Amino acid sequence: MICEDYRAWVEIDLSRLENNVIALMDLLPRGTELMGVIKANAYGHGSVDIAKRLVQSGVHHFAVAEIDEAIKLRNYGILEEILILGYTPTHRLEDLLVYDLTQTVVNAEDGERLGNFGKLIKVHVKIDTGLNRLGEPYVRTDKILSIYRQKNLQIKGTFSHLAVADSLQDRHVNFTRVQYNRLQKIAEHIRENGYNPGKIHILNSYGIINHPYMQSDMVRPGLAIYGVLSKKDTSVGSKINLLPVLSLKARVSRVNKIKAGDSVGYGLSFTAARESVVATVTIGYADGIPRQLSKLGGEVLICGQRASIIGNISMDQLSVDVTEISNIRQGDIVTLIGQDGSETISCEEIASLTGTITNELLSTIGDRVKRKIIK
Ligand SMILES: *Cc1c(COP(=O)(O)O)cnc(C)c1O
Repeated sequence: MICEDYRAWVEIDLSRLENNVIALMDLLPRGTELMGVIKANAYGHGSVDIAKRLVQSGVHHFAVAEIDEAIKLRNYGILEEILILGYTPTHRLEDLLVYDLTQTVVNAEDGERLGNFGKLIKVHVKIDTGLNRLGEPYVRTDKILSIYRQKNLQIKGTFSHLAVADSLQDRHVNFTRVQYNRLQKIAEHIRENGYNPGKIHILNSYGIINHPYMQSDMVRPGLAIYGVLSKKDTSVGSKINLLPVLSLKARVSRVNKIKAGDSVGYGLSFTAARESVVATVTIGYADGIPRQLSKLGGEVLICGQRASIIGNISMDQLSVDVTEISNIRQGDIVTLIGQDGSETISCEEIASLTGTITNELLSTIGDRVKRKIIK
């Protein structure tokens, strides 16, 4: 078996990436380019391995959140365009040139600061069309034009970000359409004034899946590349066949029989109603398992069967009730996310139980969790 020496690990099935990229591109008009969003270590998947495989699948643009994520990719030989989606402080601007990175202009003031750096910087200009997070607000057309007038900015693209692309409620679909139209109008205004806005892009994963008819030069999926949706959503999920790239696994470290009335975990948080067999598992909340999962009906897979998490989850360990499963032994593999036999626990299932989104679960998988790459 694989991973004989690991305590807790993720398995990254790189062969599934291409399926997801193709599934996304198939929804879009021919010629649309894909910018792979690989921020937060590619949502916990490992940005370097993910980027290398995506390049092989024909992806030539990447986006990350901050400059050090971009530099890491360069240091590991990624030569494609890398867009930094967030703000970069002034003392780091030289590195944009050293590593040939592309910076987001987060508003007009930022455009002035980047322009005043005195050396030609490659940028994509962000327009705020309603998320009210980053970008120069779409209503301030003069301020927006001032960015395109900057001498030292090489403008490669103009983009915005959607607020409710994941929702199919009428008012949300309408808001997405409004955001799209605002960006289109700004792009037109820029052209009318004699400037080139570069590549126009707005669609994230849900934008592509729910609104593929919103044409643009480029799209920016993150989550869907990794084969997951934010939450359980069959109406959305049925539109595209995604394959999850990541599985999360650990081991049984001890199997122990307890009596009725015995408790398990800090705070004596679980008390057995009957004689029970408890397996201790080598993964905890510092590895990214939400601590509240035990109170919300969380389960794991052992020997192809579901077992309930019992008692408070510890930093490095948790316990499961394996009374109904025979022959569990020390060292057995436990699947937290993924498939074992005919059973599957999806990342979406855990997100739904814990009231969060898969994006958060994946990006908070702990640093010490090993990464096993399956090619
Ligand atoms: C994270 C992010 C994306 C990717 O979003 P997904 O929902 O993961 O597809 C795209 N654009 C921006 C600006 C982002 O911050």
